Amino acid sequence: MSVRVRFAPSNTGFLHMGNTRTALFNYLFARNQGGTFVLRIEDTDQARSEERFADAIVEALEWLGMSPDEGPYRQMDRADRYVETVAELLEKGAAYKCFCTPEELEAMREKAAAEGRKPKYDGTWRDRTDHPEGEPYVVRIKMPQEGSITVDDLVQGSVTVDVEELDDFIIQRSDGTPTYNFVVVVDDVDMEITHVIRGADHLNNTFRQVPVYEALGATTPAFAHLPLIDGLSKRKGSASVQDYRDAGFLPEAVMNYLSRLGWSHGDQEIFSPQELCDLFGFDSVGRSPSSFDEDKFRWVNTEWMKRLEPAELATRWVPFLKNAGFEVEVDETLVAIVELMRERAATLVELTEESRYFFTDEFEYDEKAVKKWIKEGGRPVVEELIQRLEKLDTWDADSVGGVYKSLGKDREVGMAKMAQPTRISLTGSTSSPSVFDLVATFSKDEALRRLRRGLADLF
Ligand code: GLU
Repeated sequence: MSVRVRFAPSNTGFLHMGNTRTALFNYLFARNQGGTFVLRIEDTDQARSEERFADAIVEALEWLGMSPDEGPYRQMDRADRYVETVAELLEKGAAYKCFCTPEELEAMREKAAAEGRKPKYDGTWRDRTDHPEGEPYVVRIKMPQEGSITVDDLVQGSVTVDVEELDDFIIQRSDGTPTYNFVVVVDDVDMEITHVIRGADHLNNTFRQVPVYEALGATTPAFAHLPLIDGLSKRKGSASVQDYRDAGFLPEAVMNYLSRLGWSHGDQEIFSPQELCDLFGFDSVGRSPSSFDEDKFRWVNTEWMKRLEPAELATRWVPFLKNAGFEVEVDETLVAIVELMRERAATLVELTEESRYFFTDEFEYDEKAVKKWIKEGGRPVVEELIQRLEKLDTWDADSVGGVYKSLGKDREVGMAKMAQPTRISLTGSTSSPSVFDLVATFSKDEALRRLRRGLADLF
């Protein structure tokens, strides 16, 4: 039997982190098992569903490298199938028409409340055949009347509910539309889903859904209800995949970080997408809630900024630079900038900020740095530095370093007295990477131009 899983978001919002984790675990399980990952957009809530959200979900999965193998299927395209299935269940006697009026249902609720019971439909129409002509009705499913329902969940273990807790719930409303717990099962049966992987908040629905599989004469799939994620507040985590993408997070980091919300593999923290596919399994998914930690997420992203090939990271960086108004292409210089600067940034947006001075010479000199490092007597040494750099034939960090070191020795000046004025001239401040690398990453012409400009502006 080949594994088929589905990710079934409703298109009532963007793909946020909680749902992305559900998508990820489905995707990883499918890849691990050589199975099929299906996308189903649950769009039956017409009032709240929007096309742009469906598009955004597809786009987000694509950016993550988790595009579905099948789908997106749309529930709205399947309306006839639901009507047909309700008719079949009525025919079989597995479901029935209920003609209770809203007043009767209200009386039922009040009676239960007065007797201190949970409100529950009492089965009035379950076995009646005296159907009133032309009156509105809903269709209810016949739930088992005794015993219990046990779900052997791959994550939650064996969970049992007494059927007393459940009532004959509505599968078709009086306007003919089907309800959620019904369509999910019809879809999962038709799509031959073998493993239903979703948030633990759906566990209660599962007890209602299991009898529907039975009524349809279908095999119940395996279930895996993923632990909840704490700390997904309005501010954090409820941000969408696209928000994180635009903030300069890498898809590898999103997958890596989210995989660890519930799943683990020893103490290992950093996993490539391929490793995740190879290692993932429900044996290592815990039951307790995990918590969303933005700082840790940033740390994982920092790690991925360091791990990608510099040319690859440069390619991903270009759109951010364009956004900031810098028209650049991936070339040797950009790759060199990436190598030099990436350790100083947690995201591609921060990398842009940290590296601005490579792309523009329009910056203010940092006043404090100027005050501290630019001294009247320092001018001759910077002049000589420029002269010596002008004579260099090879322009790399070693040759540049050689110039600084020999000048320091010859004139008996400390490195900082040359390095800090250099940094200020080239970048506007003293916070930049190793000065030899910095100088060598600029072209010779540009480095010297800025040094000369600094000499004129600062001293
Ligand atoms: N549409 C449901 C949701 O977005 C998921 C249903 C399911 O996975 O069974 O929460």
